[in-house]
Amino acid sequence: CSPEDGGGFPRGELRRYGNIELSPSSGVLNYAQGLFEGMKAYRRPEQAGGYSLFRPEENARRMQHGADRMCMPAPSVEQFVDAVKQTVLANRRWVPPQGKGALYLRPLLMGSGPILGLAPAPEYTFLIYAAPVGNYFKEGLAPINLVVDDEFHRAMPGGTGGVKTIANYAPVLRAQMDAKSKGFTDVLYLDSVHKRYLEEVSSCNVFVVKGGVVATPATRGTILPGITRKSVVELAMDRGYKVEERLVSIDDLIDADEVFCTGTAVVVAPVSTVTYRGKRHEFRTGPDTLAQELYTTLTSIQMGLAEDTKGWTVAV
Ligand code: PMP
Repeated sequence: CSPEDGGGFPRGELRRYGNIELSPSSGVLNYAQGLFEGMKAYRRPEQAGGYSLFRPEENARRMQHGADRMCMPAPSVEQFVDAVKQTVLANRRWVPPQGKGALYLRPLLMGSGPILGLAPAPEYTFLIYAAPVGNYFKEGLAPINLVVDDEFHRAMPGGTGGVKTIANYAPVLRAQMDAKSKGFTDVLYLDSVHKRYLEEVSSCNVFVVKGGVVATPATRGTILPGITRKSVVELAMDRGYKVEERLVSIDDLIDADEVFCTGTAVVVAPVSTVTYRGKRHEFRTGPDTLAQELYTTLTSIQMGLAEDTKGWTVAV
């Protein structure tokens, strides 16, 4: 699409997966003018047939919000969801069997036109590619081990941490590799000003549970407002938990009974240990945890095994 031609994305086309042509001076390659989304299509039970998407309008709206921050035009919600549905249908045979995973979908929006000086690109491309993925946890929920990093930060106030722009993932690479080489699953980031408040993990949000209270860092522009996070907040409240979206300090985490992460890839991941300044802190995991309950509830809704009383799924 070209904003100078009045904007709006013309109707797209389905193409076989392959390389795309991009100008060396495109906005995305030079100034990281790009956004993406991550979604999953699940195969529904045989008797229902078809596939199921989870809250795809939320992804569309998040992309629109991000596009505004990145000075890009974005597809309408309808256009976005329709393109996602078409991508699923065109890749039917790649959707794994029920319970064996999902078709991962990656919508991308980028400044594809050439721009030499720093400015928004003159042309934009919206595309979606798909790839089958297995369940993040092969059997049951395997708790993860996080390390808190107060050397590296992934976002700063006033920056782009609140939108899903490609550049947010660049600062993560080094920190994540270092953590993995030391045997940790991933990094838990603290805020870059006080180095005291939890932000998020490389690609998921974080929750702490203490008694009947569930707390998760408020989205203040430095963390991504996760769609799984939003859904889990609602499900926890339905179960009678008090849910607080606020500043959550590292001390709150150390004092918690339970810690878990949420995201499209993991759905809900229990955290068994968090290492902070060389000290390892342990948390409850296992069958009687809120993380387990939320994982079961959410995956059942996503796969069409439980009644979707909230209207979160969209059939394809
Ligand atoms: N934070 C970051 C940085 C992410 O990349 C993701 C994955 N999209 C999330 C949180 C979780 O968001 P969602 O639940 O919408 O997948």
